[in-house]
Amino acid sequence: MLNLPIMMPFVNLSAQRDAYRQELEKAEKAVLDSGCYIGGPEVQSLERELSAYCGGVQTVTCGSGTQAIEIALMVLGLEPGDQVIVPDFTFIAPAECVAKLGGIPDFADIDPKTLQIDPESVKNLVGPKTKGIIAVNLFGQCAPYEALRKIADQHGLWILEDSAQAFGATYTAGGNTHRACTFGDISITSFYPSKPLGCYGDGGAIFTANAEYADRARLIANHGSRERYRHVEIGVNGRLDALQTAVLRVKLRHLDRELEQRRQNAKIYDVFFAGLSGFTPQAIAAGNTSTYAQYTVLAENRGEFIARLNAVGIPYCIHYPMPLHRQACFDVAAGGANSANCPVTEKICRQVISLPFCAFTDVKGVVEKLR
Ligand SMILES: *Cc1c(COP(=O)(O)O)cnc(C)c1O
Repeated sequence: MLNLPIMMPFVNLSAQRDAYRQELEKAEKAVLDSGCYIGGPEVQSLERELSAYCGGVQTVTCGSGTQAIEIALMVLGLEPGDQVIVPDFTFIAPAECVAKLGGIPDFADIDPKTLQIDPESVKNLVGPKTKGIIAVNLFGQCAPYEALRKIADQHGLWILEDSAQAFGATYTAGGNTHRACTFGDISITSFYPSKPLGCYGDGGAIFTANAEYADRARLIANHGSRERYRHVEIGVNGRLDALQTAVLRVKLRHLDRELEQRRQNAKIYDVFFAGLSGFTPQAIAAGNTSTYAQYTVLAENRGEFIARLNAVGIPYCIHYPMPLHRQACFDVAAGGANSANCPVTEKICRQVISLPFCAFTDVKGVVEKLR
């Protein structure tokens, strides 16, 4: 028999399942025995609970975070040729959805410390064809909405808040604290399993305080139909299934406690890296509390650090290895976008590295191995 060392998981979803096993199995069995697998009362209850958690918004669940962005862009009326400002440093989904609907993603650079979209770069990109800004709450902290909203208001742009990584984060501006998913004209999240609030498959949600937008999102997510077999516009199959809903309702009850644990775990990493030269964790801006969807550091010599992680059997991820504007898919889809000038993103892509992280990660154990 091979005697390979068992690598600790990057996100420990089985430990989380062990912790909530009784509640989860009861909820899962109830759905499986109900004979109702798509839509139904579970979905409506979850939407009410998510709205109450965020505060001041309506919730429309759908099939994934990416699909939530696509539906949101349809609701906002994106048309072919419209330009949308997106961060150059994030997961591909926001830029991908813009391009898929015929829009042109314009890539904005980021702040070198918080790694969030840089309002100065956004300002420089606004042109006559610009319709909106997609702000991403990167790695779990909210984007600088106060500055972004000023730019949006000045130029008549909408803001789509991509909170796929930050459900449960808070942002304080002007003395007021609000939860993530309330800062966009439309906001979205993802329930991908490893996100801070994840299910056991794909899932997502759309949030908005605008009743008309909520109504249209619901319509589009249901094949453009309010009434069975009557279709008033082109929509999508955008359903969250009842089984995922049941899992999410259980996990939502534990979310705040998990977020607290995540912050404590992050502190252990923070203290460790503060004592090492050549490492800088992502800065959390004043007024933000992060969900730490990722615990990400900038390593001056990443190659050397990776060799050390490999030697002691600690998994890692590179979020993200290249600027989005350099992705081959945008050569064709976003004519001219490849000329984007994002020097901070270029540099950060060579330095970032994310460490094992969740509420159930033995962060002390990781740090011990690295000492
Ligand atoms: C995960 C993620 C998405 C996409 O969510 P899916 O549910 O995987 O489709 C979108 N934006 C960001 C920033 C993400 O991290």
